[in-house]
Amino acid sequence: MSAQMLDGKALAKRLREELKEKFAEFTAAHGYAPTVAIFRIGDDEASAGYARAIEKTCQGVGAGSRMIVLPQSATQAEVEAALDMLNADPRVHGIMILEPVPDQIDHAALIDRMDPRKDVDGVHPLNAGRLLANRPPFFVPATPAGGLRLMEEAGVSFKGKHAVIVGRSDIVGKPMALLLLHRHCTVTITHSRTVDLPGVCRSADILCLAIGRAEMVKADWVKPGAVAVDFGTTYTDDGLKGDCDQAGVAEVAGLLTPVPGGTGPVTNVMLMENLLAAAELLAAG
Ligand code: NDP
Repeated sequence: MSAQMLDGKALAKRLREELKEKFAEFTAAHGYAPTVAIFRIGDDEASAGYARAIEKTCQGVGAGSRMIVLPQSATQAEVEAALDMLNADPRVHGIMILEPVPDQIDHAALIDRMDPRKDVDGVHPLNAGRLLANRPPFFVPATPAGGLRLMEEAGVSFKGKHAVIVGRSDIVGKPMALLLLHRHCTVTITHSRTVDLPGVCRSADILCLAIGRAEMVKADWVKPGAVAVDFGTTYTDDGLKGDCDQAGVAEVAGLLTPVPGGTGPVTNVMLMENLLAAAELLAAG
């Protein structure tokens, strides 16, 4: 068997075009563009690069972006004061607190302090709790939302399917599991202490990988015809690698997201969907 590859680049391009129109309509109706504040503390290179990528995505759809960078030496009180200003600013509709934060900063306290209506990353406990309870409105973290969208676009049916999620982070593994549970999958969440991980993976109709270990999942871990969604992005000497052996798994799976070009390109577009939803929510009062 040779898997159909789920083209994230093409989907992202199409969704960006659709979003461009929606952002233009919002801006025309309200006189301002939905705007995200990208909040960074310190000088981490990767986080600065991510911030630039978000800025570029914003420009591409007609969203506004505001970069807030505090020094590595910033205190908790200074960071909280800056965050409070963003919470109160009516021209800021989304807030993203980028990681890593310096050791002296209590990251969880910042997340808790953010206005949940501006939480476009879906990390505030109120949004996480609403997702758990399947009680809208809530913001879904962009990465699993993108994985789900790729599957939906490919016509994957969820009801009664066994979904195995490898990884239990708050931003990928857990929300992916909940999204599939709410679509009536039978869900197994696995992690580094799971016994017989290959065997559990082999029982999956839908296998979602959010591990961060290059090419860990091999072809013989995958049920023939399964849907495999590979969120992994690990930079190696041989380039960017996913969590599965892409070439091997492509021989066994029915559908597979490539790395690069699968879930990655869709993630930032999902973030823009969240930003538009946040701006609409705030405008509705
Ligand atoms: P985390 O490091 O937060 O979580 C990794 C998870 O994988 C943990 O739950 C961990 O288990 C589990 N794990 C690690 N090693 C093993 C193992 N040997 N066997 C089984 N489980 C294991 O990562 P994230 O969720 O933030 O990210 C996961 C991947 O997704 C990364 O490659 C990241 O770069 C990528 N990513 C991709 C995005 C995209 O747009 N496509 C966006 C965000 C992330 P335990 O909990 O037991 O430690």
